[in-house]
Amino acid sequence: MEKAPINWVNMLLFSITPALAITLVPAYGFLVGYDSYEWLLFFLLMGFCGMSITAGYHRLWSHKTYKAHPVLRLIFAIGGAMALQNDVFHWASDHRRHHQHVDNNERDPYSAGRGFWFSHIGWILRDYPSSKEDFSNIKDLMRDPILVWQHKHYLSLVLATNIGIPALLGALHGDILAGLLLSGLLRLVLSQHVTYFINSLAHMWGNQPYSDEHSARDNSLLALITYGEGYHNYHHTFQWDYRNGVRWWHYDPTKWAIRLFSLIGLTHDLKRCSPAQIEKARLEQQYRSLSLRCEVLNIPEKWRVRLEQEYEQLLHTLQQWSEHRQAWYEARGRQLQETLTHWDLQQLRDRYKQVQYQLKLQRRRWQQLARNLAAPTPALA
Ligand SMILES: [Zn+2]
Ligand SMILES: [Zn+2]
Repeated sequence: MEKAPINWVNMLLFSITPALAITLVPAYGFLVGYDSYEWLLFFLLMGFCGMSITAGYHRLWSHKTYKAHPVLRLIFAIGGAMALQNDVFHWASDHRRHHQHVDNNERDPYSAGRGFWFSHIGWILRDYPSSKEDFSNIKDLMRDPILVWQHKHYLSLVLATNIGIPALLGALHGDILAGLLLSGLLRLVLSQHVTYFINSLAHMWGNQPYSDEHSARDNSLLALITYGEGYHNYHHTFQWDYRNGVRWWHYDPTKWAIRLFSLIGLTHDLKRCSPAQIEKARLEQQYRSLSLRCEVLNIPEKWRVRLEQEYEQLLHTLQQWSEHRQAWYEARGRQLQETLTHWDLQQLRDRYKQVQYQLKLQRRRWQQLARNLAAPTPALA
């Protein structure tokens, strides 16, 4: 098959910048050295660019998982240009296509099915038909004047942020070159590859607790360098949720920032998946892989029936728990408006607690069964 034509602008950009970064940055460090102010600026700007992509380009514009104040949108638009990952229109359009046609080698612009290199950066270096410009899926974004402005002035913004800001910050400290090398060049190259890992590694390395219908993986190590985007299996399963690391202890600084901004009115309408929906997805995934395992290992029928029964019961209780929980929360609101007696409320609360306890016991049984069936040699007495 004939190879797609090379995109020379990108090819030169993505070859020259890393080559310069790995030679000039250490050379200058060796000859002159960098001080803590210069390193601090480097890390701050890394965070600024990274979070503009994860919180802005990704969770705000591509997925609309929350709404943001124009000031914050403007900041993200500038940070995204500094990250040099194209304007929001191109980025979000490609990314929406990535979710819609995930793993489809003909239609997903960075399909992981075409290998690590292609999904990491190869897709940018040539003009592949799968990433042909088509803004029909971002009509909503094209109405945002901030994004129209960013699209129009993208090149000037790129130059001002990548050369102007590092040079200015360096000059204020008395060393323009150090500023340009660390906060300009090294920051640019590293922040780009950090994002690209989400398209490559996060579709190859890690586990799939929520769904194996797409190649996306959850990987807490990757989350550490991608501002929380390493929980990619969750993200592809529930793309409308503003969180990627859904548990409170999951390292997801993007989620924390969006939540923090909501406390001061910079973000609002944060969308979340309900705990029951999340648990249901995990359960279904576990059931699918355990049934497959039973089949492959030829596990006796009795155990398959037990698996099926426990699964159905747990799903049912989960559903009930979710309904009672909803009723209890609503009732509390009505009590505040004094349309509900204390007695009614007590009854609802007790029913909710009862189902919750039942769910806890069933969960424990299910986990035991799952552990047993997933053991290298299941103890099937
Ligand atoms: Zn996404
Ligand atoms: Zn993905």
